[in-house]
Amino acid sequence: MVDLTDRVALVTGASRGIGRGVALALAEAGAAVAVNYRERADAAEAVCSEIAAAGGQAIAVQADVTDADAVAAMVKQVVAELGGLGILVNNAGIIADAYLTFMKPEAWREVVDVSLTGAFLCTKAAVRPMMKGRWGRIVNMSSDAGLMGDLMRAHYSAAKAGLLGLTKAAARELAGQGITVNAVAPGIIETDMTADMDDKRAEAMMSMIPLRRFGVPEDVAGLVVWLCSDAAAYITGQTISVDGGLRM
Ligand code: NAP
Repeated sequence: MVDLTDRVALVTGASRGIGRGVALALAEAGAAVAVNYRERADAAEAVCSEIAAAGGQAIAVQADVTDADAVAAMVKQVVAELGGLGILVNNAGIIADAYLTFMKPEAWREVVDVSLTGAFLCTKAAVRPMMKGRWGRIVNMSSDAGLMGDLMRAHYSAAKAGLLGLTKAAARELAGQGITVNAVAPGIIETDMTADMDDKRAEAMMSMIPLRRFGVPEDVAGLVVWLCSDAAAYITGQTISVDGGLRM
């Protein structure tokens, strides 16, 4: 069992899906958790209530991760209310399917902004309190799309591949401060993001997954928690897929 007692974690996009699963698992391991959301305050509060009911500590923190001032204020709030910050999971992300030739530049910017610029802004803001404690864990939620490229998702694939560059650069830069930076690349995980996949595509994808099932948020959360543990202290700059073997 991983023990994260006395650690403080911030998970972006934790009101739903994978982020929610990660927040619950970090709290179960003993961390105090800040549950970030953009719009759905009720969902974020429900995650906090679930954590509190299980004996853990959590606060909901609103911020659009693409807004530098909002992100800085959020990190300040987390440090003030939870007493520090040692773990950052850059999980917030969106999709907006479109073929490349029809993709609007605004859609490109929005998707890249949330996944990639958002991770940069949150990392930049969170590193200072981590340096103070001379300990930190940053986990970036990439995607198999960033490794393979995904149909109708040029922006998303580019942002998720960009996250891998950010992961490696940050890992090099922050290693001397006791901060590790790694990326997780989920395959197809059952969340709101994948809920409207049509049957034909679902069947085609399933046939390519050796473990013959789609993932659930808990599959991803287990790896994230482990990367935040002392057992993973000598692992940095890496990308690990959680995809049932899809991308071997
Ligand atoms: P999801 O169910 O759609 O949830 C998205 C979360 O991100 C929500 O909590 C949402 O907050 C938050 N969010 C969106 N834009 C934001 C912004 N600008 N600022 C702050 N929070 C924002 O997504 P998911 O499937 O759990 O995906 C989570 C991450 O895993 C994403 O980065 C995604 O790209 C990645 N991923 C997912 C899969 C998959 O198959 N599901 C596969 C590979 C990678 P609100 O609730 O307030 O809107």
